[in-house]
Amino acid sequence: MEPIDFDDAKSRVFEKYGKCMELLAHQERLEQQYKHVQIPFLELNGIGWIPIIETLIHEADVWNEKCNIEDKIVIEQIKEKYGSLRFYFHGGSTMFRGMVRFAEQISKNTCEACGCVSKNQFDCTRCKINSVNGWGKGKDE
Ligand SMILES: [Zn+2]
Repeated sequence: MEPIDFDDAKSRVFEKYGKCMELLAHQERLEQQYKHVQIPFLELNGIGWIPIIETLIHEADVWNEKCNIEDKIVIEQIKEKYGSLRFYFHGGSTMFRGMVRFAEQISKNTCEACGCVSKNQFDCTRCKINSVNGWGKGKDE
């Protein structure tokens, strides 16, 4: 029996799941950074929308720190649907509701894999490079 080449196995796993792990790393970072809001599991196909989502999470965190308990923002789900961000929540202000609407619109022009300016086509928002590549492949690959 041939010995297992762990380095080779590791690099093949990373090739396949590296970007997925990058998303998990963001999940962990956001959970550590924002203590006043519960962050649901990010149901995304890449890391392109992280800056958009983080803006909302930051806002919710700041709001939750100061608001009355009955006004607290509870994020129920963060996911991709038909190539657009869906951010389901309750609580918060009228301004926060507006921010969420705006963020969801912006996502329709942002590549879900790499974050570059992109167009929503066929229920998917990805740039040219990332629509031919697999799961969340970056533009420099
Ligand atoms: Zn892209």
